[in-house]
Amino acid sequence: QAKSAGRRTFMRYDDAMDASTRQRARLSAGLRKVLDRGELRLVFQPRLSLARSRISGVEALLRWYSDEHGEVAPDDFIPLAEESGLILEIGEWVLREACLTLRRWQQHGAGDLTLSVNVSMLQLLRGNFPEVVRRVLEDTGLQPSVLELELTESVLMANAAQSATTLQAFRTLGVSLAIDDFGTGYSSLAYLKRLPINTIKIDKAFIDGLPGDPEDVAITSTVISMGHSLGLRVVAEGVETEAQLGFLAQQRCDEVQGFWLSPPLDAHSALGFIRNWDGARQAPRAHASSLP
Ligand code: C2E
Ligand code: MG
Ligand code: MG
Ligand code: MG
Repeated sequence: QAKSAGRRTFMRYDDAMDASTRQRARLSAGLRKVLDRGELRLVFQPRLSLARSRISGVEALLRWYSDEHGEVAPDDFIPLAEESGLILEIGEWVLREACLTLRRWQQHGAGDLTLSVNVSMLQLLRGNFPEVVRRVLEDTGLQPSVLELELTESVLMANAAQSATTLQAFRTLGVSLAIDDFGTGYSSLAYLKRLPINTIKIDKAFIDGLPGDPEDVAITSTVISMGHSLGLRVVAEGVETEAQLGFLAQQRCDEVQGFWLSPPLDAHSALGFIRNWDGARQAPRAHASSLP
């Protein structure tokens, strides 16, 4: 009896797995060709410094525009690229392309911007990643202090010992480090104190409930004040509304990123947005003047 129930469960599981396995197999086969076909693009989402009312930087986000599958979201293909190891090649492409773009912007007079690039677990595990970063910076001529690497808590916690050494290598290079999706993992701020981190990015999940949800209010204000007492810059992710912005400004959150400011934009539009923002600062217009 137990056996047949077990088999039934197993078969259902197996059927479901077949469908998703087939879909994943199709995606990973397609993924292998993306670099050759030039199907990858970067988009850039601006980040705003609340104290200075200035665009402080951009986060580079990867997009896959596939002939076969249409637009595939990073959350759907990055895990596959990690499984196949292809993320190493893709990750280096992202880094190079992002650095080149920022270098170009600097030459067009958009200086003083931070460039944030997401780093996956496998990249960090590979011992030579600091060397890859050093080489890309050298090739592109971008100053190391401009670059900020975003790592998630789970990546750091999974390899705590090795991470510490690798992170130190980045600090030696002069590159900054941020913890992405902060609050969704298991790390404590006390643990972070021992890592050479510059920035924490509070996950959108906690920003969503602001300013109405008492728990999100408590978590967010605690992370901001503890982050500050550890000397960290605090960024709020996924800020969509004026009310969220008002709360974060009142709590002295350093920077915000999210649809309220701008969605991710292609390189050309992002540069336009940044220039226009600075222009609007001199002659305040609707969006800029709505800042607290
Ligand atoms: P993330 O690094 O936490 O990036 C923030 C995600 O939130 C982005 O999704 C962004 O488009 C989205 N977002 C920003 N503001 C808002 C908002 O106000 N509302 C909502 N609903 N969403 C907002 P995206 O571009 O789909 O990327 C998803 C995740 O994929 C990223 O999360 C990151 O973990 C990963 N990823 C993206 N690009 C790369 C990459 O080049 N390398 C690696 N390793 N991972 C990447
Ligand atoms: Mg990120
Ligand atoms: Mg995030
Ligand atoms: Mg995320």
